[in-house]
Amino acid sequence: MEPVVPDFIRAIAPYVPGKPIEELEREYGLSGIVKLASNENALGASPMALEAMQQAMGRLHRYPDGSAYYLTAALARHLGVEEGSLVTGNGSDDVIAMAVRAFMRTGDKAVMPHPAFLMYDILVKTAGGVAVPVNLDGMDIALDAMAAAVDADTRMVFVTNPNNPTGRFIPQDKMRAFLNAIPPSVLVLLDEAYVEFVAEDKFYSGISLLEEYPNLLILRTFSKAYGLAGIRVGYGVMAKEVAQWLHRVRQPFNVNLLAQAAACAALDDVDFLNRTKALVRDGKTWLFARLEEMGLRAHETEANFFLIDVKREGKAVFEAMLRKGVIVRSMHGYGFPRCIRVTVGLPEENEIFISALKEVL
Ligand code: PMP
Repeated sequence: MEPVVPDFIRAIAPYVPGKPIEELEREYGLSGIVKLASNENALGASPMALEAMQQAMGRLHRYPDGSAYYLTAALARHLGVEEGSLVTGNGSDDVIAMAVRAFMRTGDKAVMPHPAFLMYDILVKTAGGVAVPVNLDGMDIALDAMAAAVDADTRMVFVTNPNNPTGRFIPQDKMRAFLNAIPPSVLVLLDEAYVEFVAEDKFYSGISLLEEYPNLLILRTFSKAYGLAGIRVGYGVMAKEVAQWLHRVRQPFNVNLLAQAAACAALDDVDFLNRTKALVRDGKTWLFARLEEMGLRAHETEANFFLIDVKREGKAVFEAMLRKGVIVRSMHGYGFPRCIRVTVGLPEENEIFISALKEVL
């Protein structure tokens, strides 16, 4: 006799993350694998963050500071917000989980784009909530349709900017019009996991809209531009009145000791961030030019990844690339069956990717 699992848990689809390098090594006996699947930072982690972690090692027998005092203070200074507006998490996933726990009851609805980052759907369903997917309008989040999908049972709305998996960016006037259409009683989670990669002439952050829209929660992460995916740190910026409820449901030591030290140092490593942005900008230019020469369309993006229309079943291309030791992301089940999603890598990784793609197509 097995323990009883509620139906709403049975209904959750398993999350399949980008294939880990070690798994491919084991399965195919390959080495020198290139992973361009999870929008990580190809440069590695900030050297200042690594140094800070080394120094923090001596304190590993102690619990971390549950309030993440120094990291919160550093973020407040960096972003120009009050400390009470910040909630740090074990990756930004953890902040999404807290928001869902704090604001949704069984049966409440959360409106989200489809396709979108899968954890929105999983975490809402885990709380017994109802995910209301709204199909993209081509490559763009269908903001009008999302607003129209909000009803009296809706407690949360998810928006991703730049979007994953399309890389598209919603300009400020459209974002404002959308926020105006959402009732202030509904929490809008604006996921800015990739915002550091947005071109300077287009850049704005939802953080600048917080005073006007106190129902906004801006989600950020150290996993992408800051190169700290493996240590798990993310944060949310929101009205203090919202933050207090996330703190209420937060696990007491949710950001580990090394992660707090690393994230504080990474914020100060302006040189690393600038090198990361340049790597992604130049890598995109190079990759787009090569793909165009191959007669392939890469979709415009403001993130560190992009979709390529491979003009055939993307899943087959993904699998053939795996056998060549290059991990990209299949968009099978994401509404883009002819596409693969590729993260910009180091110049030599980008070259290996292009050579492998030429062989595969
Ligand atoms: N949001 C988006 C849009 C993402 O793509 C990801 C990671 N793939 C996350 C959030 C979660 O990132 P993390 O938990 O590593 O901060």
